[in-house]
Amino acid sequence: MNAPSLSPRQLELLRRVANGETYRQLASDWGVAELSVRATGARVLRKFDANSIAHAVHLAHLAGILRRERHGDHAGFTAHVRRGEDPWACTQGCPEGERAYRAERRQQRKEAA
Ligand SMILES: [Zn+2]
Repeated sequence: MNAPSLSPRQLELLRRVANGETYRQLASDWGVAELSVRATGARVLRKFDANSIAHAVHLAHLAGILRRERHGDHAGFTAHVRRGEDPWACTQGCPEGERAYRAERRQQRKEAA
């Protein structure tokens, strides 16, 4: 299928719903009414011609829009930064992974000096 083009908000909704978050959580994070999140979700459904948000998540995976995101290492950490998120707020191990990476780099520099 052709991948529909999504707005950043629509993509964030899809990614977060795929990660198990609810419309209520999104509404609270975005500081909007849950109804407004539902409206965004409805636009995502139309773009995918999907019957439900679960169907849309599945179609987005098939279209390569949702990739499995890395966590707990340097690549996961920098991916947060690229998306404009706070990597130190990640609860899936990115801060620990980044600390280990930096310690290893420090050790390598010390050995090279
Ligand atoms: Zn992370």
